[in-house]
Amino acid sequence: MRSVDTRPLAGGGNGARPMLAADRGGFVDRHGLWTDKQYAAAAQIRRVMDEVGIELVRFAFVDQHGVLRGKTITRDAVPGVLRSGVTAPSSLMLKDTSGRSAFEVFSGETGVGVDGFSGAGDIVLVPDPSTFRVLPWAPRTGWILCDLRFPDGRPVPFCPRSILRGQLDRLAAHGFELTAGPELEFHVFKATDGAMTLERTNVPGAPGKPAEVEATSAGSQLLHEESLDTLDEVVQLLHDGLTRLDLPLRSIEMEFGPSQMEITLAPTDAMQTADNVVLARSAIRQICRRNGYHATFMAKPVGAAVASTGWHLHQSLRRLDNGTPVFPGGDGDSVLSSVGSHYLAGLLEHASAATAFSTPTVNGYKRYAPYSLAPDAIVWGLDNKGAMVRVVGRCGDPNTRLENRSGEPAANPYFYLAAQVISGLDGIVRGLHPGAPTNDPYEPGAQRLPRSLGAAIDALEADEVFRAALGTEVVEWYSTIKRAEFARYLGYVSDWEQREYFGLF
Ligand code: GLU
Ligand code: MG
Repeated sequence: MRSVDTRPLAGGGNGARPMLAADRGGFVDRHGLWTDKQYAAAAQIRRVMDEVGIELVRFAFVDQHGVLRGKTITRDAVPGVLRSGVTAPSSLMLKDTSGRSAFEVFSGETGVGVDGFSGAGDIVLVPDPSTFRVLPWAPRTGWILCDLRFPDGRPVPFCPRSILRGQLDRLAAHGFELTAGPELEFHVFKATDGAMTLERTNVPGAPGKPAEVEATSAGSQLLHEESLDTLDEVVQLLHDGLTRLDLPLRSIEMEFGPSQMEITLAPTDAMQTADNVVLARSAIRQICRRNGYHATFMAKPVGAAVASTGWHLHQSLRRLDNGTPVFPGGDGDSVLSSVGSHYLAGLLEHASAATAFSTPTVNGYKRYAPYSLAPDAIVWGLDNKGAMVRVVGRCGDPNTRLENRSGEPAANPYFYLAAQVISGLDGIVRGLHPGAPTNDPYEPGAQRLPRSLGAAIDALEADEVFRAALGTEVVEWYSTIKRAEFARYLGYVSDWEQREYFGLF
């Protein structure tokens, strides 16, 4: 017999009784981690699970790479996990992209700079009930996103959702809220051989051989209707999957390169957008895999010689008190308001440090090539798609916004967005000016974006504004992980070197 919560859903606050007796005394209650609205949403989850027949719920958190990890909990165990969370090894927050720890958790001195990581002890995944979804592709399965705490109730300072929340709180203290709209490019290949042979299996520090794939479209025909029609199976699958997840999907497009596509999501509040992006990427990969395709958000996979994939991030501020947009210029012929141009100047000022978050992989730096529609220099332009920041709008247009084109679609959305807030807010606080727009974004004289992940991490470590905003322990933690990844790359003898030198010297 399933128990059904028959009480009406409380909106939270004002005499509502959203906390069920079953919720009392658990980890969430003891540490005061939920709002009334979240208690109400938790009650609603129990009801939806009964109505829909959910047997399994995936409790997921976002790691430092923007990747979802977590545990699948059975129906009977779900109430307990809603009440008190579920634990996972803290060492998951210390690993590079290959699964290798960048810190010494089993020595007396971990090097992390924060207590709670020694011996790979537990962290607690605290569900955020407002994120609950029923997964359309996995039978009888729900999904919920979690924040990270230590067992003593302290927040885990490396939790990406908490880091973004912290930066949005700083922005709110200045009276602003951030709206963000993502354009995500990606590749969808046909999977030709799914066999998990031994050479495909991973060792930490040495990932196995990648999947074998074929192209799904010939490329060089941007927005070509008939090419997209040949991929209609994928279009239909992604449309159904993403809209059933209640993601604000606006468009599915044929991009320029072979096998390359793009989706756009409607602009929403920044935290919502970050949640939307992690879920959308994971959903796209899972849906494609289940249907014989391989989707990747890697910036420049083999097969993308010309067209790399970018994540263009549209952003604008609105006033917290009355919701009015802050960026539109009102006087004369200026497209941006003074606050808008200070924010833009901040994005330019801190572009190198921010790149460590907008382009966090070795591969992403191969995207910064001239005349590719990806930027390669720290410049801005008015509706110029070669510039790093493109100003979109006209004088007085309420939708006036900034489009940062520097990111790769593999970026951790919480960090990419946090980096925008840190940069833009510093521009506002210091009243910085962006200089003149460019009409020549690939002109060789302009200051270049970092040429490698290593150079971006150097810039991050040297940026005092980022250190002050994030805290030195967060900057050091992130840099250590990314440097470990970069060092493995530098130490690897590649196919390029073999071809270039083996016969010649
Ligand atoms: N693929 C390009 C990039 O890497 C962008 C192409 C476009 O403007 O849509 O950013
Ligand atoms: Mg595009």
